[in-house]
Amino acid sequence: MRPATVQLSAPAHQQLLDHSQTAAPEECCGLLLRSHANPPLVYHTYVKLQNAATNRTHTFQLEQHQLIDLVYRYPRSKWDILFVHSHPSAPPVLSQADIQGLALSSSLFSGLLIVSLQHGNEHPTYACYEV
Ligand SMILES: [Zn+2]
Repeated sequence: MRPATVQLSAPAHQQLLDHSQTAAPEECCGLLLRSHANPPLVYHTYVKLQNAATNRTHTFQLEQHQLIDLVYRYPRSKWDILFVHSHPSAPPVLSQADIQGLALSSSLFSGLLIVSLQHGNEHPTYACYEV
């Protein structure tokens, strides 16, 4: 995975921030979507996913049914999909657990974005990677 830069719409950005702040101190998961139908290519839609991990403070897990639903609703031929998850108290750096957690589903996504709240809700930091 290599670092990437992406553009988010203001509403999608706010929804992702709200979700990560509400979920803290647990990690939240979501998707940022952009349709090929309406360029310019800004990620304009945020969708919440459930974090199905047992230890949600430090890890995330996606359930199979969420992934199947995703494939049907947002085919890659029409949508770019960023997988989003939060690091409530850690820097926005991919962990070994993140890489393992995405091993089976990475082909579903165009990239991934981590939002870190380690410096507080007012100072979120981000990292984005292309798959
Ligand atoms: Zn992580």
